[in-house]
Parts: sequence; structure tokens; C-alpha cells
Amino acid sequence: MAHTTAELEAILMQRSLTDAELLAAADKAEDFRILPDATVIKIGGQSIIDRGRSAVFPLVDEIVAARKTHQMLIGTGAGTRARHLYSIAAGVGLPAGVLSQLGASVADQNAAMLGQLLAKHGISAVDGAGLSAVPLYLEEVNAVVFSGMPPYNLWMRPAAEGVIPPYRTDAGCFLLAEQFGCKAMIFVKDEQGLFTANPKTDKNAKFIPKISVDEMKERGLQDSILEFPLLDLLKAARHVKEVQVVNGLVPGNMTRALSGEHVGTIITAS
Ligand code: ADP
Ligand code: MG
Repeated sequence: MAHTTAELEAILMQRSLTDAELLAAADKAEDFRILPDATVIKIGGQSIIDRGRSAVFPLVDEIVAARKTHQMLIGTGAGTRARHLYSIAAGVGLPAGVLSQLGASVADQNAAMLGQLLAKHGISAVDGAGLSAVPLYLEEVNAVVFSGMPPYNLWMRPAAEGVIPPYRTDAGCFLLAEQFGCKAMIFVKDEQGLFTANPKTDKNAKFIPKISVDEMKERGLQDSILEFPLLDLLKAARHVKEVQVVNGLVPGNMTRALSGEHVGTIITAS
């Protein structure tokens, strides 16, 4: 039974904000999806954008064709330039929050470039995808480009070890999909999906078409094709309970995944 607003307020005013009964009461209302028809697509930094024209142009064509039938929020990764920045910044002892700002600036660069390539089709890059004009762009042209790094910046929660920001563009794009209650989340990278080992360095690696978060951890694959903190975000999600990783170097894969086809690896919350 749902609590009335007055009942909820009475509990909220009295208790600690982490009180178990309060948390349960605040969770009673039916979930609301803000952008239920949109799919978030992450275009990999190192895996796609850093390859330049040969990888990016075919995806631009796919985006332009797909937006006739699909609503897309297109997030960008950072990639090699961010890794270069991280190595310099970590080498001089700067903290995770500063590295997070530096990484965000590279994802911004990639969003700016993708925005320019899509400009003549009326598709814009937005600064900070925290709504503002996003619904209007989706309504008018079915697509918008955003920078994938989550805006934690200096407030980035550091990892247990080291200064590399643990929440980067995989997490940023996923969190956007989850918060907006989007239909689906697709990661466009440069391998068919998840393998039993890194296919770039292990010739015997076997493809895994579908796997749960728990199975990934059991098999020691938590730190592989997606940023590892993403797995716990996925497990705790209310809306986006699976993600698909696809090979964006194969023409048509992104579009097929948008239509709900299973072309890469599907990672499920449970
Ligand atoms: P992005 O460009 O989106 O940041 P990454 O380069 O960080 O993507 O991640 C994709 C890469 O992850 C692949 O190119 C692959 O080399 C690597 N990888 C490591 N372990 C695995 C694995 N078990 N299965 C598939 N890919 C893996
Ligand atoms: Mg990455």
C-alpha cells in the first residue's frame, strides 16, 4: 500500500534519512521514467573515436539513419588522450578529483567533434546532459550528443587504491540511462562483446553472448570490457536491468542492437 504524501512527510521529518522504515516508505511510490522511449548509446573513446574517420564515419551514417525510428542519447568516451593526461597527472601526484576533471575535458572534446559531424543533420552536442533542452532535442530530431564523463569532477569518490577516477564514461552513460529511466543502454566498442579473456592479448579467448553481473564476478571478469563499478550500479538499477556491448566496427551492429537484437554481449543485473 502506498503511503500518502502526508504520511511520508511525517516519517521523513522525524527519522534519520537512512532509517530502514523511512527508506522503505520513500520507495513505495510507483517508479517514474523520465525518458522511457530513449536509448543511451556510448561511443567508445579508445575503442572507436580514437580510430578516427574509418570507425567514426560509418557510425555517424548509422546514427543519421537510425534516428528516423529511434530516440538516442549519444554519449562519448574519452580514450587515449585521457590516459595520457592521467599518466602525467598521476605522475606528479595529483588527486582523483583533478584527474576526473581532466578526463571530462577529453570526453567533452569527443562530444564536440561528434556534434560537428552530426551538425548538418540537425543533431547537436549539449553541455551537460542533465536535461535542460534534452527533451526538446529528442522531440525534434530524435537524437542528442553528450559528453560521457559523470560531472563529479573534484568531488569524484576516489577508488580504494590509486588516483584513477573509478567512475568514468561507461558509468556516466549508464547512470544517465538509469536516472532517465531509458529503454536501453548500448556500449559501442571494438570487440564483439565480452570474452573469457582480453581478445586483444589472448588468442584462445572465447566469446560470451550473455552473462549476469554475479557470473562475471565469479569468473573474475569484473575488470574487463566495462568499468568495474558499473557492475554494481547495474545490479542495483531500477530501470536499466541489462546492457549490451556491441562491436561498432561491424556496420549495422549498432542499429540492430537499437532494434533490440542480440548482436553482442548482454550483461544482466541478475
Ligand atoms: P572504451 O573505448 O569504451 O573506453 P575500452 O577500450 O575501455 O572501451 O574497453 C574495451 C576493451 O576492453 C576492448 O577493446 C578489449 O581489448 C578490452 N577487454 C579487456 N578484457 C576483455 C574481455 N574479457 N572481453 C572483451 N574485451 C576485453
Ligand atoms: Mg574505457
